[in-house]
Amino acid sequence: MRTFLPDEQSTLDAGSAIANLIRGAALFRPPGFQIRLVGDLGAGKTTLVRGVLRGLGYLGRVKSPTYPLLETYHVDSVTVAHFDLYRLEAPSGFAEAGFEEVFAGEGIRFVEWPDRAGSLLPPADWIVTLQAQPPEGRVLDISGLTTVGCDALAALKL
Ligand code: ADP
Ligand code: MG
Repeated sequence: MRTFLPDEQSTLDAGSAIANLIRGAALFRPPGFQIRLVGDLGAGKTTLVRGVLRGLGYLGRVKSPTYPLLETYHVDSVTVAHFDLYRLEAPSGFAEAGFEEVFAGEGIRFVEWPDRAGSLLPPADWIVTLQAQPPEGRVLDISGLTTVGCDALAALKL
């Protein structure tokens, strides 16, 4: 799935559409759902997660988890884990921080800079790519990697 996002609001709206899908298809149920976010610094990865959280009904601030590496949100019955692994120095740090446990059971997991965790990161359901499109806007690309991920992607209404 590929679409053009002309401005920040359209990235937030795409996040909101993903939130509707998360609720509608109950993607948070065990074993949970993992979305990897790929793109340069400033591509809009955190903005997309902010749109998802807003769409789920989260009213608080959504910061980039650059230093804590992980921020966890609870909205109604949905748990959202948002990783930014940019500053993870070695994949072993992923295990040392106990991050593998976050992938057990229910919940939606967003992972910025997934390659930093090497092979320690469990398999993803979606890979989302955001790419700046000069002079403005972004191209959003979503690929499904699992059966659940492909079914969900087929139901996504952007
Ligand atoms: P990342 O997490 O990928 O480093 P951020 O989401 O923190 O990126 O920042 C992206 C920047 O790009 C923000 O300033 C945001 O307003 C802007 N932005 C997001 N989506 C778009 C878009 N579709 N078109 C133009 N600017 C965008
Ligand atoms: Mg970010």
